[in-house]
Amino acid sequence: MEPGLLLIPGPVPLHPRVLEEFAKPALPHYGDAWVQAYGETVSLMRYLWSAPNHRVFSLAGPGHTGIESIAYTFLRPGDRIVVVSNGFFGDRLREVLLTHRLKAEVVTSPWGAGPDLDGLRSALKHPTKAVAVVHNETSTGVTNPLEPILEAAHAVGAFVVVDAVSSLGGIRLPAAAIGVDAAFGASQKCLAAPAGITPVAVAPSLWESTDPKGVEGWYLNLFTWERYAREWGEWHPTPTTISSNLFYAFHRALLLVKEEGLEARYTRHAKASARLRDGLASLGFAAIASPDLVSNTVTCMSPPQGIDANTLVKRLRLEHNITISGGLGPLRGRTIRIGTMGTQAEPDVVDRLLDAVRAVV
Ligand code: PLP
Repeated sequence: MEPGLLLIPGPVPLHPRVLEEFAKPALPHYGDAWVQAYGETVSLMRYLWSAPNHRVFSLAGPGHTGIESIAYTFLRPGDRIVVVSNGFFGDRLREVLLTHRLKAEVVTSPWGAGPDLDGLRSALKHPTKAVAVVHNETSTGVTNPLEPILEAAHAVGAFVVVDAVSSLGGIRLPAAAIGVDAAFGASQKCLAAPAGITPVAVAPSLWESTDPKGVEGWYLNLFTWERYAREWGEWHPTPTTISSNLFYAFHRALLLVKEEGLEARYTRHAKASARLRDGLASLGFAAIASPDLVSNTVTCMSPPQGIDANTLVKRLRLEHNITISGGLGPLRGRTIRIGTMGTQAEPDVVDRLLDAVRAVV
């Protein structure tokens, strides 16, 4: 299949230096080279989360591995968790948490709007173990402000879990400075690595206050990962086999993040998304997100009157070999969604898309 231009909100095209890791022969998931790359990856993830003292893990699996590992490790059946949702992925968080026999309650607000903070404060009047929220809602292109959510949760002693799948590495998220207790991302979005690795970060306070004895499961139990790093760290720091090509590609992608610098990277994402939004707005598209919450990594807009979103997506693919996404949930058929993540967050990439949209609408 001719790849064309991939502009969905992840996965994104791989940087050539990341891609070349896939052409290498398979290597062992232990030994000196692995230990060195693993150690570097730990430091790079701490840099990425701006959290030098958080425990960090690179679990093999999709982004969902992150929420499941946090649920297994830090929550127990019957615990109450309040999910702040304003989109598809907020609702998905709740769906996953319910399968963990948790009392997962949801505080919803309309898609495109910000979190319902009053609703959250009143939900927190009942004893609550944790609050969960999506930092960047990929279904609407809304970036949720985390500080007021953290403040409300911490005021009642609840810890906060952040889904940073579509923001990590693209939107500022200083996990330590703002007090994020547990968070997970994904490799295939702003990090521009292949899908299949989930970076997880846990604050020392949450880690130290959790009794490992109560944890169910093994692979998604973060204490298993910590034990292997501690006891087998000299030769085999991960508990299981991980594809060496995948892991080294992830490691390479993190090195590229460090080389660019986080602040420069955030600015690049902000500029590319503003260029895209402005270009689409000039063609009559309207953002779903409130203006103060628009995302720098996912643009979700409804087309001008008379243009069908699904037809637009299809024509871009067939006539211009450009793949973007359509809407999710109630926005299906009503919106288009475009990623400006990692390798996509470049002005020439944005301009190529805008030229194609102009030719179609
Ligand atoms: N959370 C958000 C905000 C997402 O955008 C996605 C995927 O797009 C996920 C979670 C799920 O990630 P994965 O498909 O890697 O499990």
